[in-house]
Amino acid sequence: MPDRSMTDLILRNTRLAGGDDATVDIAIVNGKIAEIARAISSDAPFEDAGGRLVVPGFVDTHIHLDKSCILDRCRSDGSLQDAIAEVAAAKRAFTEEDVYARGRRTLEKAIVQGTTRMRTHVEVDPRIGLRSFEAIRRLQKDYEWAIDLEICVFPQEGLLNDPGTDELLVRACERGADLIGGCPYTDSKPHGQIARIFEIARRFGIDIDFHLDFDLDASWMDLEEVCRQTKAHGYGGRVAIGHVTKLSALPPARFEETARRLADAGVAVTVLPATDLFLMGRAHDHNVPRGVAPAHKLLAHGVTCSLATNNVLNPFTPFGDCSLVRMANLYANVAHAGQPRQLSACLDMVTTLPAKLMNLKDYGIVVGNPADLVVLDNRDPAMAVAELSQPLLGFKRGRRSFSRALPVLNPPG
Ligand SMILES: [Zn+2]
Repeated sequence: MPDRSMTDLILRNTRLAGGDDATVDIAIVNGKIAEIARAISSDAPFEDAGGRLVVPGFVDTHIHLDKSCILDRCRSDGSLQDAIAEVAAAKRAFTEEDVYARGRRTLEKAIVQGTTRMRTHVEVDPRIGLRSFEAIRRLQKDYEWAIDLEICVFPQEGLLNDPGTDELLVRACERGADLIGGCPYTDSKPHGQIARIFEIARRFGIDIDFHLDFDLDASWMDLEEVCRQTKAHGYGGRVAIGHVTKLSALPPARFEETARRLADAGVAVTVLPATDLFLMGRAHDHNVPRGVAPAHKLLAHGVTCSLATNNVLNPFTPFGDCSLVRMANLYANVAHAGQPRQLSACLDMVTTLPAKLMNLKDYGIVVGNPADLVVLDNRDPAMAVAELSQPLLGFKRGRRSFSRALPVLNPPG
């Protein structure tokens, strides 16, 4: 029996995804999970989860804190090109304090929605310089009590066509960017950008996360070049691609061939349902295509997939509460994924699978890992997605990071 005299807290009466239906207690010592067992006998302080599901926090692999909450500064016609142009114009006026304040608002929303790990993309180019990067670095440090934030610097407006951007990306990597991203679809030489991003990533030994194939024209895909270079550089398991809405436009045989190519190369996919639904299909005035890549079908071919937030309250996505439960539900609804095992897979795509995509080595409710624990108001993983169950209580490294009260009905009398 473990020494329980040092136990700081016990989260009692929890249910774990993938476990049997029995409830377990989770003992926390020094911010780490020390024991998982039925009815742990101890005098340590405890919280009662009431038989509810506990997850190791949500993992958001793709969000843009730096350009969130700028709707009041932009007018947009709703197209992708217009969103890029509007944000590019607004970005010129961003100060470090402004980015910090808006990023904080968005980050705090994510924390109370139960997100404990996050990868934020941050734009770097000669207009914004490293102002956004420096602001987000401060947020990374100031909020480490609640969330582990990874910074992915990337050239939203192109790299080879935008002199000065390359040097800034390199400088950001020297100053501690966690990884590098790309956006080949805005570059004058998309394959040249892909090659250069791999070069910088290898120089710094960091992972890569591209914005890719963000339209519904299936006649060409940058994905093939990314898979080719991933294999050539031995980078399998270290490359992710976001959006990839072209996958939704492929007929079954080509879809399966492409899924196998991704799995074989070790390239992961992040689907961004809110943005993809909002920006795709704009050329149609009826029978509008959904434009959301079928992530749950990619899983069946062995591709690592995540569902993520992307933009919050800006021209790319004028919505957002940073809830990954909502994103899982939105995806399931749009993708016709309503079977219990499919709904359960949608929860995996905002928890364990994004953790795998980000190569997190200490994620999960396992003895020895940090006690990152979030209680959801449901007993069942599939139903938590179906019913949009709220996160009620969160711990980061064993310390309570947020709580949410249950609603109360007030019947007459
Ligand atoms: Zn994005």
